[in-house]
Amino acid sequence: MKICDAHVHLGKSGPWQPYVNPTIYANDLIKLFDKYDVEQAIVFPNPNVGDKYPQMNDYIRASVRKYPSRFVGFGRVDPRREDAVKEIDRIKNDLGLTGLKLHPFVECFRPDHPFFNKFFKKVNDLKLPTLFHSGDGFSSPGLILKIAKKYPKLPVIMGHLRESTLSALKESENVYVETSGTLPDIIELSVDIDEDRVLFGSDVPYYRYSAQIAIVETAEISQKAKGKIFHDNFKRLIKNVMRK
Ligand SMILES: [Zn+2]
Repeated sequence: MKICDAHVHLGKSGPWQPYVNPTIYANDLIKLFDKYDVEQAIVFPNPNVGDKYPQMNDYIRASVRKYPSRFVGFGRVDPRREDAVKEIDRIKNDLGLTGLKLHPFVECFRPDHPFFNKFFKKVNDLKLPTLFHSGDGFSSPGLILKIAKKYPKLPVIMGHLRESTLSALKESENVYVETSGTLPDIIELSVDIDEDRVLFGSDVPYYRYSAQIAIVETAEISQKAKGKIFHDNFKRLIKNVMRK
């Protein structure tokens, strides 16, 4: 089955685990895609401490230009910075990227803090679908859900589907979930809520394709639902946002 992947990092990284080097450039990523039958993926920079995101976004743009049918480019930004609003405008209008990746834990911001109202209004005005890392603390699904509810037309993808993400999926129709690092039984529960809003995600190069694909494969759901998770839901979402 051809796979579409909603969560892939691309480009240079600082040091990570001693046994994993997350730096990966476009040509090598394409080789990995070919090995695992990945047709298309959302790609965005590795985590950084803010000041290097603009040049990392430039690399995403160059990569999308080189492989336009394989990469859907999302930019990254540190929303605390003065120039954050300017940078997301550049991401959309100069670089032509499709969406945003935000990591409230790494970028150290609480999404519902009034300081970020202007930022999220701009994200919504620019129609930039946003993938949030979801997890603990500032990344908790309840805080991200507040943004999704405030901007009901903005597609909000919550990364790393887990039990605490399920209620957000239930509560807001613009919330999508992505499967990297989850477990088969959590996928089964999410499919019960809405099989059209569950996307396959790998979080490559931090996680491995073999394991992340197996998580979805082993879920006890219909073949039709697997087809939607691996492929159809991604294609529909991307088609909709590209049209805007
Ligand atoms: Zn990631």
